[in-house]
Amino acid sequence: MRQLTHTLSGSNSGTQRSLISLHYGVPGTGPKVVLQTALHADELPGMVVLHHLRARLQTLETQGQVLGEVVLIPTANPIGLDQHLLYNASGRFELNTGENFNRGYPDFAAIVGDQVAAQLNSDAEHNRRVIRQAMREYLSACQPTTELESLRVVLMHLAHDADVALDLHCDYEAAMHMYVEEPYLQQAQALWQHLGAQAVLWAKGAASSLCYDEALSGVWWRLAERFSDLPIPLACLSATVELRGQADVGGDWARRDAQAIEQYLVHCGALAGTASEPPPALCQPTPLAGSQSLEAPHAGVVDYQVTVGERVNPQDVIAWVIDPISDQRSAVRAEVPGVLYARHVARWATTGMNLGKIAGPTAFKTGPLLGP
Ligand SMILES: [Zn+2]
Repeated sequence: MRQLTHTLSGSNSGTQRSLISLHYGVPGTGPKVVLQTALHADELPGMVVLHHLRARLQTLETQGQVLGEVVLIPTANPIGLDQHLLYNASGRFELNTGENFNRGYPDFAAIVGDQVAAQLNSDAEHNRRVIRQAMREYLSACQPTTELESLRVVLMHLAHDADVALDLHCDYEAAMHMYVEEPYLQQAQALWQHLGAQAVLWAKGAASSLCYDEALSGVWWRLAERFSDLPIPLACLSATVELRGQADVGGDWARRDAQAIEQYLVHCGALAGTASEPPPALCQPTPLAGSQSLEAPHAGVVDYQVTVGERVNPQDVIAWVIDPISDQRSAVRAEVPGVLYARHVARWATTGMNLGKIAGPTAFKTGPLLGP
């Protein structure tokens, strides 16, 4: 294993942060897989999953069983990990700018499209190399002025040539679920089955400011659409895996999730061995545009009637909201059938607060699907 230290530029005078990556196997000898966790720095279950995976990879590497390169990034956001406000961790947005740590990644298709146009040909492998080379050149030429920009460039450098890049997150309280771009659903199926995902939410270009996974997977389908007469492979399966809720850092789950990811690494050829048959799917993928966001109708105490992972039907009461002053007690109801895959951890709601999400089967939303 090689441990690399990536020093972030743009830090304050007299301070310096760095990002650590752990590299198993030999680059260029097989598939490259990047697994990173805690890009939202207060989302911790993935850290424990990588803790378990690390021990396995160490053993497998000494046995020569790592066929390509597996890169672990145990804490992908040293800036956010350092942010506390009044004794509470605050790792989703940079406190200085308010920017979401998982937005603002490069739209590589727009950036490198013109540059690669004259170099692409009828050989998919050649096209993969040309596009990755152009992405690398762009990243190498970047001169980030802030620590946050520097972090994004470092993370993209580590993953721009990955065949698989999984971004391990979690929600407030949640069932295991995953976000993936629609063109990659087939590639991702063994992953969500091994993980036992209870919801798989697909979209295609969901955010107006790209997430980490969208930057890495989107370049390929966007260029394939632009150069539709040429073979452009879907060369990077990148997905956001939501490892349940923020408090779900328990050892059994983490160990099981690490085993599931290890099975997927065998499945995609990054580890030696014969891939085991994944367990049956617990859900069918549903459009992110069909996900109902449950909103508090007014301020009050939230009394949930449904726990995460339960299936609900339209009109089911998901929660009561009780205003202690007006004495108003309002039902928050499901409008779509599906799994309640996430709910809030707070029990005091402000008006309009998102109390939970149901993975409905039919798209009904338009426009950007992910907030800032
Ligand atoms: Zn997150």
